[in-house]
Amino acid sequence: MNREAVNRKIRVGVLGFGGLGQAAARILTPKKEMLWVATADKGGYIYNQAGLNPDDTIATYGKKGSVGYVEPYGTISGDSIKDLIEIADVDGYFLALPNLPNTFMAEVARSFIQSGWRGVLVDALKRTSAMEQLLSLKEDLQKAGITYMTGCGATPGLLTAAATIAAQSFSEIHSVKITFGVGIANWEAYRATVREDIAHLPGYDVESACKMSDAEVEAFLETTGGILRLENMEHADDIMLELAGICDREQVSVGGLVDTRNPKKPISTNVKITGRTFEGKISTHTFTLGDETSMAANVCGPAFGYLKTAVSLHRRGIHGLLTAVEAMPQFVR
Ligand code: NAD
Repeated sequence: MNREAVNRKIRVGVLGFGGLGQAAARILTPKKEMLWVATADKGGYIYNQAGLNPDDTIATYGKKGSVGYVEPYGTISGDSIKDLIEIADVDGYFLALPNLPNTFMAEVARSFIQSGWRGVLVDALKRTSAMEQLLSLKEDLQKAGITYMTGCGATPGLLTAAATIAAQSFSEIHSVKITFGVGIANWEAYRATVREDIAHLPGYDVESACKMSDAEVEAFLETTGGILRLENMEHADDIMLELAGICDREQVSVGGLVDTRNPKKPISTNVKITGRTFEGKISTHTFTLGDETSMAANVCGPAFGYLKTAVSLHRRGIHGLLTAVEAMPQFVR
């Protein structure tokens, strides 16, 4: 790797341009070390090596439903991810895509492997069973020269990493309890997040939530006053902490409260790590996020921190699949 390649800005692509994808574009714009150059959504893609304008792109997406309509760099496509991978010169992609169906993220990873593209991928995947599919691609990713970091959002992600740091005080971990509060002004801004949360409720699964029309989601939210109360979720924080040797997956629990009609968080997001110290004392560390920080800030911030880490691993020839607790995020200036 020559000096110029190391010093230039990391060229970033964002796949998916819904709630998280748009927040990602806004977060990247003032960064000195990263440049947002590409995005694909369901209807098309946009690419410009010199960087993209978030205001124009978000406005056109809002009006017409796809970044493919943005002049002059957008292209309409029915196979936008594959088409974009072929033409774009990108160091790393943030996958802000819905994992609907539950196999979608693994399919996207396979498309990257098959395309011959080399670089960095980061996701904010949530379900344990979805992460297990990615774990099975570890060797293929390694052979393909891709460094893929999974579970790099808020939970899994920021809170799982905090639990990993907190665990250092203890000789034995008894429980890791994650409780999140999310407030969003309207559910349409985060359709996939809300559908995937509904899939955790009693009587629903990924398949049934995936099939719900927007009108059905709205009718359902009407019955709960816009609130989703989630308990004992299937969240990959468990498998990540188990693989890191911190505790068994049964000792990890994740739940939360989502208000889909109010940007104010209904409860504070926190992770509690309980364990026994070497002196035999039982104690709990609590890490609580500031109530003013949004879901988008707590997902996209860590995702780009991990993307920076992944780029430095990739440049050193470290490829394959890592979870968010195997490498800690670096700060992006
Ligand atoms: P969204 O519904 O707002 O947007 C999804 C975007 O993906 C849209 O732009 C859509 O056009 C695009 N898309 C859909 N299918 C596509 C395809 N086949 N090819 C290309 N683009 C496609 O989604 P969101 O609410 O921003 O959520 C994105 C993901 O982030 C979800 O899977 C959600 O679970 C996850 N998430 C993770 C965390 C975390 O802490 N780990 C928190 C929140 C959300």
